[in-house]
Amino acid sequence: MFYTTKGLVLRETHYKDNDKILSLLTEELGLITAKARGVKQKNSRLRSGCQLLTYSDFTLFEKNGYYTINEAEPLNLFGGIRQDIELLSLGSYFAQLLETVSGEGQRDPELLYLGLNSLYALDKLKKPQDIVKSVFELRLMCLSGYAPMLDGCGQCGAANASCFLLEEGILLCDICKKTVSNAEGVTLMPGTLAAMRHISSCDKQRLFSFTLKPDAMRQLSDVTERFLLTQLGQGFRSLDFYKRLFTIQI
Ligand SMILES: [Zn+2]
Repeated sequence: MFYTTKGLVLRETHYKDNDKILSLLTEELGLITAKARGVKQKNSRLRSGCQLLTYSDFTLFEKNGYYTINEAEPLNLFGGIRQDIELLSLGSYFAQLLETVSGEGQRDPELLYLGLNSLYALDKLKKPQDIVKSVFELRLMCLSGYAPMLDGCGQCGAANASCFLLEEGILLCDICKKTVSNAEGVTLMPGTLAAMRHISSCDKQRLFSFTLKPDAMRQLSDVTERFLLTQLGQGFRSLDFYKRLFTIQI
């Protein structure tokens, strides 16, 4: 059976001499694995549209649950990302996260749009990497069932609450904070909390429309990453690699 769908290449695995096995996050079929035959040959018409982090229009042939790519027409190559080692490694981290939270064959276009919007923000809008990374991390958590509760104190409901518990994903007020022992909490600056509320609830077109002072931005970067790692309960090699790039530069 033939399918046509738009999709983003999240991962490529080399297979035999000229083939690749790709993980694709598609609009119509969700996360799928598909074989690209002969894609490594110089004259392959699949070559351009099957590159890592390329968004393409795919024609797929499916038999017994296995997909083979017949056509791959690139819609957005995100060329600026592929030419910059920092952007490429950050994009690879996004791809690894999208694959981690996506269920095989489960259609979830919002996750795909978040990935595309974030890559576009890095590639074309030239948004700062730390903002895009934080937005992606927190919004990804919201879309995949780990949305934090940021309205007020998670225990008594008080509006004035700023201690964010990474494990529980809730805020505590100063009084309730004293009743919880051994909880890993971060006291959020007002700007950080406002940004987290914006990222969690804004319309997707406005995701990157906010500014933060440098100290609040640093805290936002720290909190969204730690929240994501705590909730998913695993590390990511692509994130380790991305962060090592900055250590090397210093
Ligand atoms: Zn409280």
